[in-house]
Amino acid sequence: MGNGSLGALQRYADIYAVDGVVLSHLHVDHFIDLCSYYVALQYRPEGPADSIPVWGPTDTASRLATAYGLGANTEISGLDVRQIQRNLTLGPFRITTAPMRHPVEARAIRVEAGGHSITYSGDTGPTARLTELASGSDLALFEASFLSRHDNPPDLHLTGGQAARIAADAGCRSLLLTHLVPWNDQREVLAEAQQIYPAAQLASPGMTVEL
Ligand SMILES: [Zn+2]
Ligand SMILES: [Zn+2]
Repeated sequence: MGNGSLGALQRYADIYAVDGVVLSHLHVDHFIDLCSYYVALQYRPEGPADSIPVWGPTDTASRLATAYGLGANTEISGLDVRQIQRNLTLGPFRITTAPMRHPVEARAIRVEAGGHSITYSGDTGPTARLTELASGSDLALFEASFLSRHDNPPDLHLTGGQAARIAADAGCRSLLLTHLVPWNDQREVLAEAQQIYPAAQLASPGMTVEL
């Protein structure tokens, strides 16, 4: 639910058919479109849509309210905010999360259904907890914000090489690099990853992946 996601989502799903949202952390590039989603749920002429669960870190409700321009204690109707857990079940999806290394409370998210699995890193510096969570995943959807030739701050983001190392160590069957930043050359991020995980690919809008 980061910036831009609500628009893209409507190409693939009816936003009134969404059953739940799981947030990795409360940086705006990972949650701010919940503000627009609230409007879409709440202000339909036929009346508000059913409320949906939103699992997020501590303070999700107050961050959401202030981001929308309301007081921190105002309840955002339509979005039933809950504390994210290690294990969640949502319809056919079994969801497992693990704390990552990032300046704010952040979790990676593993989603399993029908014998297949995806592990999304969210934002994180390198950590064995991501290797553990992603173990044997069909798809690792890992961030690769950094390049190893830069002097990168610790506990913030992964390089392409670090993302690839974790996906390889975890035995993931495919690797997509995401969270690509505009100041890096994406080809260089990919090349770095492919030295370790040759089948790594860059995520792109509209891409379909068979698990
Ligand atoms: Zn972040
Ligand atoms: Zn981010």
